[in-house]
Amino acid sequence: MENFFVDEQGFYGGFGGAYVPEILYKCVHDLQQAYVPIIESDDFKKEYRALLRDYVGRPSPLYFAKRMSGKYGCRIYLKREDLNHTGAHKINNTIGQILMAKKMGKTRIIAETGAGQHGVATATVCALMNMQCEVFMGKTDVERQHTNVERMRMLGATVHPVTTGNMTLSDACSEAIRDWCCHPQDTFYIVGSTMGPHPYPDIVARMQSVISEELKWQLEEKTGRDYPDYLVACLGGGSNAAGTIYHYINDERVKIVLAEAGGHGIDTDYTAATIHCGTEGIIHGARTLVMQTDDGQIKEAFTISAGLDYPGIGPMHANMAVKKRSTVLAVNDDEAIYAGYELTRLEGIIPAIESAHAVAALKKVAFKPDDVVVLTVSGRGDKDVQTYLNNKALAKEYGDF
Ligand SMILES: *Cc1c(COP(=O)(O)O)cnc(C)c1O
Repeated sequence: MENFFVDEQGFYGGFGGAYVPEILYKCVHDLQQAYVPIIESDDFKKEYRALLRDYVGRPSPLYFAKRMSGKYGCRIYLKREDLNHTGAHKINNTIGQILMAKKMGKTRIIAETGAGQHGVATATVCALMNMQCEVFMGKTDVERQHTNVERMRMLGATVHPVTTGNMTLSDACSEAIRDWCCHPQDTFYIVGSTMGPHPYPDIVARMQSVISEELKWQLEEKTGRDYPDYLVACLGGGSNAAGTIYHYINDERVKIVLAEAGGHGIDTDYTAATIHCGTEGIIHGARTLVMQTDDGQIKEAFTISAGLDYPGIGPMHANMAVKKRSTVLAVNDDEAIYAGYELTRLEGIIPAIESAHAVAALKKVAFKPDDVVVLTVSGRGDKDVQTYLNNKALAKEYGDF
């Protein structure tokens, strides 16, 4: 099988690269030179592993979901990233990147955030490491994700509301890059997903690869085989999916099913399904699939899930999708809401609305009874309870409450 990891030039097939302004060239180049030796050093590994264990609470459990398995006629295991400190997989990445920032002698941290989850995960590790933290967030998101803004402030971060463009995630990314251009010497940009210029997609994928590293021994223990038949995850920028598949990417026995956010549907303007609806372009420093107008203006992404609300997609996933290594399904808002209720009532686990997109993908695949299916629950649904309740009419089967 062909290699789906990044190549020497920072490309995944025709996608990826580092399209950055001249002023960031040195900064990005230094990071390209530094990141692999740092990640592979014993020093880094020791500190990273210890924090993942004692601070994040890893390994995250692999749970056999008996009632869901009965419903879908296969063997479903849930990888419980929702049980991590701060409630999602994002902390795996921010812990790794802040250790990297320290090793590179940086003193100031910046980050972009949409729903606020990556902002909270970044503010958390900045408090832990006593580093200055500046988070860029679209003004629209600041208003609709107020609790996360207050969490970031409580953790000591400064939140900068961004008032350009649609005032959402994509604009926050642009603003973070602009800030980085002004402070290339002392600032480390902690990117929140497998996006941005090379080497970020590879850095984030490596930081999240702990998910599939654990899956190998957990599956061996539970099924007697260290690989599943299917891996299922949701796809925003692509980081929890990248971590879930990392150690199985070049293993043909493992089928990969990813769920992107269809919003109101891929045939409407209200969608975030970049792989279905995007065309090739450059966004935030990488060549990838982008939702754009015919003349190259970035279109706003729409979905009920703030964490999947990005008009681009990590270059690794664009490449895997066009080469058919992965099957990417679009899951609409109503299907995700229903799936969120279903997992809640069948297993007592309220998933993040992002993760509920992955759950909804189960309906769209024909499994065999012996199939081992691993589904990553990327985050917990506490933050989405109001959204679920506002849309409870979509899950009538689970009672009138
Ligand atoms: C941010 C987020 C996502 C989407 O980001 P990826 O980089 O695609 O993983 C998915 N689930 C949760 C819970 C999130 O917070």
